[in-house]
Amino acid sequence: TVRARVVMPRGSVPVMGVNVTHADKPLWPDADDGEPVTKLDLARYYEAVGGWLMRHVEGRPCSIVRMPDGIDGHQKFFQRHTGQNQSSLITEVIIPGEREPYIELDSVEALIAVAQVGAVELHPWNCQPFEPERPGRLVFDLDPAPDVDFTEVVTAAKELRDLLDLLGLVSFCKTTGGKGLHVVTPVLAEGVDWPTAKTFARDVCRVMAADAPTRFLTTMAKKERTGRIFLDYLRNDRTATAVAPLSPRGRPGAPVSMPITWNQVNRGLDPARYTVRTVPSLVRKLRAWTDYSDGERPLAEAIERLGPVR
Ligand code: ATP
Ligand code: MN
Ligand code: MN
Repeated sequence: TVRARVVMPRGSVPVMGVNVTHADKPLWPDADDGEPVTKLDLARYYEAVGGWLMRHVEGRPCSIVRMPDGIDGHQKFFQRHTGQNQSSLITEVIIPGEREPYIELDSVEALIAVAQVGAVELHPWNCQPFEPERPGRLVFDLDPAPDVDFTEVVTAAKELRDLLDLLGLVSFCKTTGGKGLHVVTPVLAEGVDWPTAKTFARDVCRVMAADAPTRFLTTMAKKERTGRIFLDYLRNDRTATAVAPLSPRGRPGAPVSMPITWNQVNRGLDPARYTVRTVPSLVRKLRAWTDYSDGERPLAEAIERLGPVR
């Protein structure tokens, strides 16, 4: 009799049936508790949060930030397109008029497959799922200058929420795993293309900046940023990306871009609390963003309400 058995390469561990090699490789050598977060930990993180995360990634071209040697390693790349020796779990999406196919992650197994190649961050397009040309959400990326207190960012996010609310839009907040916050607005962009959507996002930011020019600016100029928050509307373009909610970040401490409720957007908010280690147990009872899919509002009406902005 022949007994079949699968011989795994040394150091490999299957996660959801996907082979994770060099499972012990530290990707975040010094995470919060001093223990490295390994490639296996990353794969298990995606397994734990994948059910929640998928709905914000599925059906959208999704760039990955790969750090195969970890966050202190030399190899770091922002990869948009599929390559050779690609896992068959990764969808290749062909965009009309573009030569190279884009990466798309349509299953939790696909997330494990990109963990296997060191994808520590996920950056999807902001289109409607499976409609790459159609805006699906706007992302307002609040980028404080290094000398700006985080409480200022918290205040700015709430002001932006109120302005969007006046325009008939529902917004959601997440930490970035970095210094800022993202305010995300699901939209129904019937008859609204990306250039129009981007102009709207810019105009919303201009209204905020005109109202409080000492606190905000809408131009990238680094030297003018001191003491102010750059209202980065540039995420709102056909091929532009923002980090996905629940994506880890390739930064010290293994932080995660954490979806939070507006009640949590307060002085006590500490983005560093949300990490690859802490988030899996929080996801099971996550209250934030549960009404995201009911939050879509017509963008054309919001544009109409805002009117022309100088
Ligand atoms: P932070 O709070 O530290 O600003 P962030 O994710 O908002 O975190 P940004 O530098 O403001 O970081 O970038 C905003 C978005 O722009 C990112 O989430 C990412 O999707 C996109 N981006 C950043 N760097 C690149 C890059 N090198 N190539 C393409 N897109 C990028
Ligand atoms: Mn930012
Ligand atoms: Mn930015």
